[in-house]
Amino acid sequence: MRYISTRSKTESRQFCEILLEGLAPDGGLYLPEHYPQLNLAELNRLKDVFEQDGYAHLAFELLSLFVDDIPASDLKEICVKTYRAEVFGSELIAPIRHLENGLYIQALSNGPTLAFKDMAMQLLGNLFEYQLARTGRRLNILGATSGDTGSAAEYAMRGKKGVRVFMTSPEGRMSAFQQAQMFSLTDENIFNIAIHGVFDDCQDIVKAVSSDLAFKSKYSIGTVNSINWARLLAQVVYYFAGYFQVIAQNKMNCEQRVSFTVPSGNFGNICAGHVAKMMGLPIDQLVVATNENDVLDEFFKTGVYKVRTSANTHETTSPSMDISKASNFERFVFDMLHRDSELTYSLFANQIPSQGYFDLSKNPLFKDAHQKFGFLSGKSTHKDRIATIKEVYKNYQQMIDPHTADGVKVAKEFALAGTPMVVLETALPIKFASTIVEALGVEPTRPAKFEGIEDLPKKVKNMPSDVNVVKHFIEEQCKD
Ligand SMILES: *Cc1c(COP(=O)(O)O)cnc(C)c1O
Repeated sequence: MRYISTRSKTESRQFCEILLEGLAPDGGLYLPEHYPQLNLAELNRLKDVFEQDGYAHLAFELLSLFVDDIPASDLKEICVKTYRAEVFGSELIAPIRHLENGLYIQALSNGPTLAFKDMAMQLLGNLFEYQLARTGRRLNILGATSGDTGSAAEYAMRGKKGVRVFMTSPEGRMSAFQQAQMFSLTDENIFNIAIHGVFDDCQDIVKAVSSDLAFKSKYSIGTVNSINWARLLAQVVYYFAGYFQVIAQNKMNCEQRVSFTVPSGNFGNICAGHVAKMMGLPIDQLVVATNENDVLDEFFKTGVYKVRTSANTHETTSPSMDISKASNFERFVFDMLHRDSELTYSLFANQIPSQGYFDLSKNPLFKDAHQKFGFLSGKSTHKDRIATIKEVYKNYQQMIDPHTADGVKVAKEFALAGTPMVVLETALPIKFASTIVEALGVEPTRPAKFEGIEDLPKKVKNMPSDVNVVKHFIEEQCKD
């Protein structure tokens, strides 16, 4: 399998050549040159693999279709090492639970940092360590986080050979729990940097360092943001695992269609669902749930994709979905446009920078998009998420986090009789305790391993919003 850029101005590459990369050199995103196709017999075989051998082996089977520059035995070992019950809290790794009338929640948030990002990042940690050891390289990951990404990256890379993580975050802006999760790590290869500023300042620092090509290459700077292809690929697996569980529980067969609703921000999670559907997994609808930052909802309803300014990006109580643009969205647009890379290029490299939006409302391919790709969308507000957290607690005695609540709210608007609907649970309530207290008047339950983490010593460097200070710090750490 080779990988091409959505803007097609980059030569095709192999999996390990793009493993440590973010954007393609032409500014586009990598996608496989085609999607492997699974027929009914192959779906049935994968279902047996999942049921008999478990999630790790399903992951191996699916990854093998996309990776041909890692020997199969090594790839299998990496999958088995990654997807373990001790790490993800259960043998099923991503178990589903039933709410009502064919509505399910799929738990993706029982990994080390209690958000779905662990599902991919844990694999990435092991793949990176493997690839760096094979090539004798080192990597310094520089990132910016407002919460979930940073901790997932740090827990995935802690103690890994050949890797250091420098994670910037806006000083005092994350929840107390999120700060404690990151800052309590004492591993020698993990560096927390609290920037005196907002999240955008952190992102600007990362961009400035990455565009200093001399510095970037001298210090082997890399990133782990959500546009990384391997992260997206890892996420494809749980759509299969969720699907197989739903049909088994309902004694249905592999022809039954199942829908998914995904609390969305950068479009990474749901884009993995799109890939699964393109491979032939019988997904009916893929419902994008947004919060007040409704860039994606607007697109799927109108055909207009309009990125927001910082001033028009709202700070909400589902903060991991507070985005001004959706960084993975170009992948879907490329597929929707029948992989017309010239048009994709003109939309993202010309129209967005010059006018801030593009309009596909008159393009027949947009009009066919729902029919062909199954995408639908809806929006949820603070009031909706509080009401949904309450309702789910009252009716089913289950606590859900604010992001998952956005998903449940929107899923209910699209549920169809006869088609099971799965909402992806993207975080556990404990990460967003103050909103839970607002909704329910009680503190969310806390997994035992996180008891008292707020009181642990903190390892963090405070810095002004100044790229040179951050660069100097990286140089210092790389001296030994
Ligand atoms: C990252 C995140 C999201 C958004 O996922 P995308 O892949 O960016 O669409 C939603 N909820 C939570 C809790 C997250 O951490």
